[in-house]
Amino acid sequence: TLSYDFHPPAPKPESPHHSFLLHRSLLLPPDTVTHASGTTLTLSPTRTIIDACGGAAVSCIGHANDEVLAATIAQMRSVSYVHTGAYTTAAAESLASIILNKNPYDLEKALFVSSGSEAVDAAMKLARQYFFETGRPERRNFVARKQSYHGNTIGAMSLSSNLPRKVPYEPLLLTNVSHVSPAYAYQYQLAEESEEQYVARLAEELDGEFRRLGPESVIAFVAEPIVGATSGCVPAPAGYFRAVREICDRYGILLVLDEVMCGMGRSGSYFAFEQEGVVPDILTIGKGLGGGYAPIAGVLVSRKVVDRLRDGTGMFNHGQTYQAHPLSCASALAVQKIIKRDGLVARCRSMGQFLEGELREALEGRKHVGNIRGRGLFWAVEFVQNKETKRSFEPRLEFGHRVQKKAFDLGVAIYPGAGTVDGVRGDHVLIAPPYTITETELRKIVEVVREAYDVVERSTML
Ligand code: PLP
Repeated sequence: TLSYDFHPPAPKPESPHHSFLLHRSLLLPPDTVTHASGTTLTLSPTRTIIDACGGAAVSCIGHANDEVLAATIAQMRSVSYVHTGAYTTAAAESLASIILNKNPYDLEKALFVSSGSEAVDAAMKLARQYFFETGRPERRNFVARKQSYHGNTIGAMSLSSNLPRKVPYEPLLLTNVSHVSPAYAYQYQLAEESEEQYVARLAEELDGEFRRLGPESVIAFVAEPIVGATSGCVPAPAGYFRAVREICDRYGILLVLDEVMCGMGRSGSYFAFEQEGVVPDILTIGKGLGGGYAPIAGVLVSRKVVDRLRDGTGMFNHGQTYQAHPLSCASALAVQKIIKRDGLVARCRSMGQFLEGELREALEGRKHVGNIRGRGLFWAVEFVQNKETKRSFEPRLEFGHRVQKKAFDLGVAIYPGAGTVDGVRGDHVLIAPPYTITETELRKIVEVVREAYDVVERSTML
């Protein structure tokens, strides 16, 4: 049975405005944004802040880009909606083409949906259908990882291991999902272990889990190449995904990689898996695909899976009303064109190096900064109570959350950790600015994060 200690946010003394919306917190309505442009968010006539996380690593080219607006409006004038069961549009076809055309990875087809959670659910169904098509109904299990996040729908939440979001709904979740250890070296690699030995231990655990379930019963292993919100920009140790791919191949199990958060350039390569030396059978993408201009996420499907469906029933019966919505596809197409034309993936790498340098210089020596890690423009600062033992703060102290809140007060929006819960290690803030961010803005962001950290450190009574 899942459990964790729940620490509700303190109610605001008086609510600034009544809201009819069912917000995430019923006690603490969020601030209103009145204007968003470039890297800034306006909250009131006198308050503009830097958006250093683009929501949750969504805004990859900043807000209110004129080219994206023009493309979306033009699409609205031409075809604003058709049902994909009967029709396709140039916007959807071009978007699939700009992502997949001449890709060297055998990724053959794209399915566009409206959110990362839906993409993950669709990926689960595709993976299951892959086996169903050849009369292998005994394949019914998924294996995912602890401290992962794959979304909020029932399927995606079942794969996830984010306890605060899962626990109340446990009776509704899929029972054919099990979880192995995260590949999270800072917290879980043993002192006496080399990186190679750590990877071997994780590989052995995965192999053991497949054998425990019976490898012939497993559909897929699902993992984020760089774990996003739940552990804070955690890339796997070198060789981990190659070992995973090999074990999956040994048993004919599919590899589904979830790049909803770390994909589309964010990690410094267009797909994060490119840095791992493996190719997934199914890939989910999301946030950076549309950059926040319209709801869109996607599933990229390998030739191997497509062929099986084509040679079988020839169908993927997964229609949804807003699948491949023309406005979402047109705006995402404009975003992807800008990323390609302006060399933003390379910029993500160079700006990421600059950000890393600034973060290390400003924070590495601090008492409670345990680890600074990331790739591209996807960085996290992990806080620990004790640098020697790497022990996280007690959840009730909400260290990372308080740093995030203080930074917000000081004018910079960063993304909080998922909130530590008992028995789960890690407490971090996440920085994921647009790929278009400047050095001056990055300096300002780091300065504010350092100041916020210092205030929280001073006020933390241990
Ligand atoms: N997968 C990953 C890795 C994510 O980070 C997220 C969202 O944070 C999702 C899936 C779910 O995406 P969405 O919030 O768009 O449903």
